Amino acid sequence: MNKGVMMAKQLSFVAFTQKFATPEACILHLEKIRFKDGESCPHCGRMGKIYRRSDLAYRCSDCGRNFHIIYGTMFGKSKIKMLPKWFAAIWIETNHSKGISSVQLAKMIGTTQKTAWFMLQRIRNAFGNKDDDDDFLSGIVEIDETYIGGKEKNKHKSKKLNAGRGTVGKSVAFGMREKGEDGEAMAVHVQDAKGATLHEKMLNRVLTGATIHADENSAYGALRDDYEVEQINHSADEYERDGVHTNSIESLWALVKRVYMGIHHHWSDKHMQKYLNACVFRINRKKVDTLSRVDEMLNMAMGARLTYKQLIASEAVA
Ligand SMILES: [Zn+2]
Repeated sequence: MNKGVMMAKQLSFVAFTQKFATPEACILHLEKIRFKDGESCPHCGRMGKIYRRSDLAYRCSDCGRNFHIIYGTMFGKSKIKMLPKWFAAIWIETNHSKGISSVQLAKMIGTTQKTAWFMLQRIRNAFGNKDDDDDFLSGIVEIDETYIGGKEKNKHKSKKLNAGRGTVGKSVAFGMREKGEDGEAMAVHVQDAKGATLHEKMLNRVLTGATIHADENSAYGALRDDYEVEQINHSADEYERDGVHTNSIESLWALVKRVYMGIHHHWSDKHMQKYLNACVFRINRKKVDTLSRVDEMLNMAMGARLTYKQLIASEAVA
C-alpha cells in the first residue's frame, strides 16, 4: 500500500477547501469523472472532439454547441462559480457522521439557508443513485425494523424509534446488515412490516440460504422458506444467545436516531428513503478516506438531476 497516496486522500476539510478553492480546480476534477469513458457531447451525443474554452465552458466541434461540465447533472443550473461551495457541502455531508442542517451549512459556506437546503436535498437525493442491484448481503445477516416519526412523548418507552412495532402515523424502515462492526448495511423504507413485504425486500438484498439473526417478531416466520432464521426474545429480556444477537443492525438504527433527533426532527415519508440512504452510506464507509467519499458522491452526482419543482412538489405532498 502506498502510504503517500493514502495520506493525500485523507484530506481535512480545510485542506480540501484549499485544494478546491476555485471553479477551475473543481471543473478539472469533475472532468475526470464526466469524461472517464471518453469525451462526449450532451447535445449531439457524439464522442470526442470536445474542447475546454478559456471561460471554462466546453465546446463540441461536431455540433458547435457549448455546455458546462455540470450540464444535466445533480448540480443542474447552478452557476459555475458555486462549485467550490458545492464541493465543501459534499465534503461535509459525506464525512460528518450525522450530516448537517441547512441552517448550519449556510453559515459554513456562505449561502442563504434556502440555497443550502436545496443543495443538501440534491446531495441526499444522489445517495440513492448507486442502487447496487447485484450487491447482495450474505453469511450471517441481522435484520430488524424501526418506526420513525409520530409523537415521541406519546409513545411507551419500548416503542421509541428503535423498538415498537406497527403504530399508525409512523414510517417503517427495514434494515439488514451483515454481522460485525464492519458489516455492510442496507435499509429500505417499507409500507408495512408484514412478513410478505419483508420477505420480498430480503430476496432483493440478501442471498437465499443466508443465516438470519433477528428478534422474536412473528413476521419473520415467513422468511424460513429461503433462509435459516435464528431468533432471540427481546421482550423476555434475551439479547444474546449463543452468538445470536442484533447488535450490528441496532447500531445502524442508533445512527438513524442520532441523525433524526440531531439534524432533522422530522422526516416526511417522501424523503425517508433518502435519509436512510445517507445513513447507510456513512455507516458502510467508516473506514473510507475523506476524498474517496467525496469522489463517490461526485460520481453519483454527475448522473442525477432533481429540479426545484420536483423537490417542492414532493415536499408539498409530504
Ligand atoms: Zn455536439
